[in-house]
Amino acid sequence: MTYRAPLGEYQFILNHVVPLAPVAGTERFAEAQPDMVDAVLTEAARLCDEVLAPLNRAGDLTPARLENGVVRSSPGFKDGFRAIADGGWVALAASPEFGGMGLPQAVNSVVGEMMAGACLSLQLNPLLTQGQIEALDHHASDEIKALYLPKLISGEWSGTMNLTEPQAGSDVGALRTKAERNDDGTYAITGQKIFITWGDCDFVQNVCHLVLARLPDGGEGTKGISLFMVPKFLPDGEGKPGPANSLKVVSLEHKLGIHGSPTCVMSYEGATGWLVGEEHKGMAAMFTMMNAARLAVGMQGVGVAEAAFQKALAYANERQQMGAIINHPDVRRMLSTMKAEVFAARAIGLVCAVALDMARATGSAEWQARAALLTPIAKGYGTDAGCRVAETGVQVHGGMGFIEETGAAQLYRDVRITPIYEGTNGIQAMDLVGRKMSDGGEAAQRLLDEVEADAEAARSRLPDLAGAVWAAAEAQREATEALVAQGMLDRFAGAAPYLHAFALVLGGHFHLRAALAEGGAGPRTTLAKIFITRLLPRHAALLAEAREGSEDLYALSPEDLAS
Ligand SMILES: Cc1cc2nc3c(=O)[nH]c(=O)nc-3n(C[C@H](O)[C@H](O)[C@H](O)COP(=O)(O)OP(=O)(O)OC[C@H]3O[C@@H](n4cnc5c(N)ncnc54)[C@H](O)[C@@H]3O)c2cc1C
Repeated sequence: MTYRAPLGEYQFILNHVVPLAPVAGTERFAEAQPDMVDAVLTEAARLCDEVLAPLNRAGDLTPARLENGVVRSSPGFKDGFRAIADGGWVALAASPEFGGMGLPQAVNSVVGEMMAGACLSLQLNPLLTQGQIEALDHHASDEIKALYLPKLISGEWSGTMNLTEPQAGSDVGALRTKAERNDDGTYAITGQKIFITWGDCDFVQNVCHLVLARLPDGGEGTKGISLFMVPKFLPDGEGKPGPANSLKVVSLEHKLGIHGSPTCVMSYEGATGWLVGEEHKGMAAMFTMMNAARLAVGMQGVGVAEAAFQKALAYANERQQMGAIINHPDVRRMLSTMKAEVFAARAIGLVCAVALDMARATGSAEWQARAALLTPIAKGYGTDAGCRVAETGVQVHGGMGFIEETGAAQLYRDVRITPIYEGTNGIQAMDLVGRKMSDGGEAAQRLLDEVEADAEAARSRLPDLAGAVWAAAEAQREATEALVAQGMLDRFAGAAPYLHAFALVLGGHFHLRAALAEGGAGPRTTLAKIFITRLLPRHAALLAEAREGSEDLYALSPEDLAS
């Protein structure tokens, strides 16, 4: 069974659950009318089904390799990328001023999800380029924009993101890569970066690295970091790649999954770089790239989960053990919960994307706060759900799930990176209860108000489901009040279960909307019931953990843990 992009699901969600209509109602996104969006998604689905999905196995079996300092990509990736670039898919949400299509992030997120479901390793390449386009669009000088954006948007060049160093992972502020001012206004960048995705690539003419580094007068920690554009080949004024820059790929990592995506150790040896944004303010610029990428990574989790679900469903229909295994209750349980989680995670990702679009189109602080609040939830829940669903997918296959040829194991291995990169899910959860609650929990409470109001309105038609969603939202509201009254250590200790609980409330909310959209009876209502009666009750246990604080965790000392 090969992957098929679930077009009907996207259309249903964007019409009835997380409506795109308000976005299309803004001047900025007026083009995103239903017919146009349908046409775009149909074309993207064709690309994913016919061109990208067939490459997924080749990426796993024949990993990218380093040959004389140059990355050689997996078989077929070059043509796959050309199809992505030539179709304009890198440029979907990019500014029309530089050749982009200027479509909403919600549409881009759907396309990203389906590409990730089809071939995660290759999709990482345009994902990072898109993040770079966004960072440059917001922070780079007009000169850099004019030189780089058209090439990145057309897919002639690709972009990377260079934060991580051996001693600086989650603690980005510990980075040691140095930047020194050259006389001509450029900078010399020296240092080592590790884990750089697509740090080199044989199907583009230039690889553009956005590198975080510290100037001699940059202070300690994240405040003293600056951001630089450091291309593999130095472009001339017309954008023709010229001499090689002083940087190289030292080695590629051997990994659990995403073998088709080269993960590079990079060495910068006095490489020429151009400042992006202001000196010492690189983190702010990098955050633009990271935020775009965080939602995109959440959607990667959803995409792989969808692929794992489809594979498991097909196998369960075929495999005979006392009849087709799909007729056994435990297999039904697994498949139904997989489908219910995929729907919830997808809707959460898309509601975050819609908030980003509304923030961009209206400039409203409320939409900005909504998008900021939802980003760590979309990333954390989308990727954790991705792992759970892919793991269940292996289980549905029984022994064959453990055997590589079914492809279920590959999906499980591939998706496992998603809760780790772009800020681990632990860091996402801390972001949610820390920075995103610096408003005293106001944005969270506003969202919960809406969930409760919807549930109230649904009570007459679906009393049991609506009542359960309302009660969960109310419990989340109380937990939020308790959380913002806590010290940071206690908050952080409960952050991960709090994030997951929030996602379950939102998942219940969107399932309820789906049920109402089909009139309260039918398969979507049954799926809503499965989510709300089987998964949502876990919410209470998660909030109990979230409220527990940190004392017991620290009472058990490292020595106790080792005893
Ligand atoms: C395949 C792959 C691709 C990647 N691609 C890129 C890329 O393109 N560019 C790039 O710059 N980086 C990339 N990374 C790096 C990735 O973003 C980091 O691995 C990630 O941010 C975690 O950093 P770390 O590995 O150093 O883990 P650590 O920071 O050492 O974390 C280890 C554990 O400690 C926890 N932890 C750490 N600090 C805290 C804290 N303050 N509070 C609570 N918990 C904490 C973490 O949540 C985690 O569970 C990639 C990594 C991989 C494996």
